[in-house]
Amino acid sequence: MSFFKDLGEKINKTTKNAVAKSKDLAEIAKVNTEIAKERAEIEMEYSRIGKNAYQAYVDGVDDANLTESLEKIKDSLSKIEVKKDEVLVLKGITICPQCGAKLDMICSFCGVCGTKIER
Ligand SMILES: [Zn+2]
Repeated sequence: MSFFKDLGEKINKTTKNAVAKSKDLAEIAKVNTEIAKERAEIEMEYSRIGKNAYQAYVDGVDDANLTESLEKIKDSLSKIEVKKDEVLVLKGITICPQCGAKLDMICSFCGVCGTKIER
């Protein structure tokens, strides 16, 4: 009886793990799509900067008024950094604060430089 109970619990656990993993994969895909969107925004702003700079040149104006585009790029770049960290957490990876090595979340010490990993 106990064997079947254990087996049942084991199957249940495995199913739950699989569901959790596929949820993580879906979440990783979602965050990666958001990162791609931010990168597309950045490319659009670079293009806008070029057009504005050219228009200013044609109009004989010194100030091309690029601040808005530059701010948007800065904002998108910091959003991408946050989202990259989200992906690492979803993948169960942490970064060594000392050397930047990618480590499994369960590591207590960095395998590259030996730094203690705080959690
Ligand atoms: Zn390290």
